[in-house]
Amino acid sequence: MPRGSLWVIVSSTRWDSAITKEREGVKANRGFDEETDVVVIGAGIGGLTCGAYLAKRGKRVKVLEQHYVPGGCCTSFNRKGFQFDAGVLHLAGGKESGAFQRVLSALDIEDELEFREQFQRFVFPDVSLESSRDVTHWPSLLKDKFPREAEGIVGLFDVIGKIHDDIRRLPETSPLIKKYRYKSFQELLDEYIRDAKLKALVSANWHLWHPNWRNSAIDYAALLITEQSRGYFYPMGGVQSIPDALVRALERHGGEIEYKTLVNQIAVRDGVAVGVKTSEGKRIQAKQVVSNVAARSTFLNMIGEDHLPAEFVNLLRQLEISLSAFYVYLGVSIDPRGVGLDAPETIVYETYDNTREWELLLRGEPSIPCFGIAVPTYIDSTLAPQGCHVVIVMTMAPYHLRNRSWSEEKREMSDTLIAKAEKLIPGLSQHIIVRDAATPLTYERYTLNTMGAAMGWAYSPSMFLKRLDQRTPIHNLYLAGHWTTPGGGVPTVALSGLKAARMILGE
Ligand SMILES: Cc1cc2nc3c(=O)[nH]c(=O)nc-3n(C[C@H](O)[C@H](O)[C@H](O)COP(=O)(O)OP(=O)(O)OC[C@H]3O[C@@H](n4cnc5c(N)ncnc54)[C@H](O)[C@@H]3O)c2cc1C
Repeated sequence: MPRGSLWVIVSSTRWDSAITKEREGVKANRGFDEETDVVVIGAGIGGLTCGAYLAKRGKRVKVLEQHYVPGGCCTSFNRKGFQFDAGVLHLAGGKESGAFQRVLSALDIEDELEFREQFQRFVFPDVSLESSRDVTHWPSLLKDKFPREAEGIVGLFDVIGKIHDDIRRLPETSPLIKKYRYKSFQELLDEYIRDAKLKALVSANWHLWHPNWRNSAIDYAALLITEQSRGYFYPMGGVQSIPDALVRALERHGGEIEYKTLVNQIAVRDGVAVGVKTSEGKRIQAKQVVSNVAARSTFLNMIGEDHLPAEFVNLLRQLEISLSAFYVYLGVSIDPRGVGLDAPETIVYETYDNTREWELLLRGEPSIPCFGIAVPTYIDSTLAPQGCHVVIVMTMAPYHLRNRSWSEEKREMSDTLIAKAEKLIPGLSQHIIVRDAATPLTYERYTLNTMGAAMGWAYSPSMFLKRLDQRTPIHNLYLAGHWTTPGGGVPTVALSGLKAARMILGE
């Protein structure tokens, strides 16, 4: 690693002279336009949580966000009186339990957010199931439906429960963790269950996000128990109310946020992060820098591999990135409850075995292994004009399409998803007032997440325990968000923000 070089890329003459002065022994902050204690790059939930907590503890904090709204994947937008959630549709645990409750309590903002519990319905060709917080509910329901598999069902849920406990208490020494750490959820399922239909039902909850053979058995087991038992909650006012509350907390404690401010360099001197530079050339000195930005961008673009250990650069290049999504946003003048769709979230599997659809998707074909329909206006009717509803139809999607671009595919994919949703909401297409869609490129553009990744790194077996640490090879540079531990999802990234702040504070 080069020693003593302040900026990785130098682009302006003024800047050159600042560095020359620095080399000539002028005080370091002469090379900067401003200075603060901590710069947080990115106002996603991880970055905002970190910034707000540091500000509450008396640090001078500046959050720099390239978009004009805070929240990253957790934002909402308005069209003709309808408010749409761009990505996030629910939170596990809300403010009742789990990671998010701990974060809200640490920031003293529990009272600023109101959550309502919602439920999900999983629809299969000839059966449908409802989500339940009672983790014994599904096993007993499935035993009734598949009596010949009763022993396997008990065994499977027993091992899932034990994995969940071991991952929290003894991940290093657990024989179960050792046995399953590189196995997929498919392999775990195959060990206990024979019936293909039953396998599909057991994995209904997470099969929406990844195929079972790309889901780590351990991550799945941990998430299944944790998320399911905590329940799914929706924030009143839409998901934008979450980052908005975090920004208020930040500002209340004297922190600042600047929108439409893209950071494109992190200043590193002698292996230590000392500040950032924005695309407009502003240089801000900081004692610590927190990156809420995609990990490859943080290290390979904003720092440069010359400043990093070679093995770290290799690791960054090898790690697997999670899939992105395709969303269709509809403002409709029909109440889907009137035609039988009563769940705030419905996950539809048109077939019990969607292996082929997943394979096509992973090869870059616009395939739909399963899809979800969310109607947040069942929970908060203020998100749409009176008598109208917000309907979001979504599926997972690859970043690269093999034979065409997303701009060519967007209309067709939207039409296909609307046609599929119409089977559950007859007359849907006749009642559309507003229509928009997001492709993986849209998510990439608005969040700058590499390949529009929805969860940061993937949850595949090969990725088990490989998420990057929040402390980085660059001293005083920390990570917060879904490219670091513990992982993706709003409560989890909020926790990573809190943990990064506590590392900085030495708490
Ligand atoms: C479509 C979709 C659906 C999802 N659904 C759910 C769900 O229902 N429930 C759930 O819990 N989770 C869900 N997730 C996952 C969850 O939203 C994410 O894991 C989480 O919000 C990521 O937060 P983060 O802190 O990592 O920041 P991000 O949301 O990734 O935000 C990063 C921020 O940094 C900014 N930024 C990036 N680069 C720069 C730069 N160079 N300079 C300045 N600013 C920069 C971006 O503009 C952005 O605001 C979903 C994600 C997606 C995409």
